[in-house]
Amino acid sequence: MNITLRPNFSTWEFRCRCGCGLFIRPPEPLLDALQAARNIFGPVFINSGTRCPFHNRMVGGEKFSMHLLGSAADITVPGVPIADIAAWFTGWSGGLGVYPSRGFIHIDAGPNRRFGEK
Ligand SMILES: [Zn+2]
Repeated sequence: MNITLRPNFSTWEFRCRCGCGLFIRPPEPLLDALQAARNIFGPVFINSGTRCPFHNRMVGGEKFSMHLLGSAADITVPGVPIADIAAWFTGWSGGLGVYPSRGFIHIDAGPNRRFGEK
């Protein structure tokens, strides 16, 4: 079943990519931030949302990745430089990881911290 979470985001986009179907509803502030980004930049693709433990290991995720809790999203915004997206998320209260060479940013609802490629 596919349920609308925000005007431009539905549950299927956040499901575990291994095929297991696991979905954990992202925290509301995370959904709000994604929708706000979408409103400004256009379509925001969720590369990775919820991950089951198996899938998290397969993709080399951290042992205590916020993706395991459904509290993280790796996003790509076609046509918009990663630096611009990262700059817009600067004030985000949770985690922000910036990966320009891999073409995505990670945002999560965990503690406020910054990481990623230097
Ligand atoms: Zn899975």
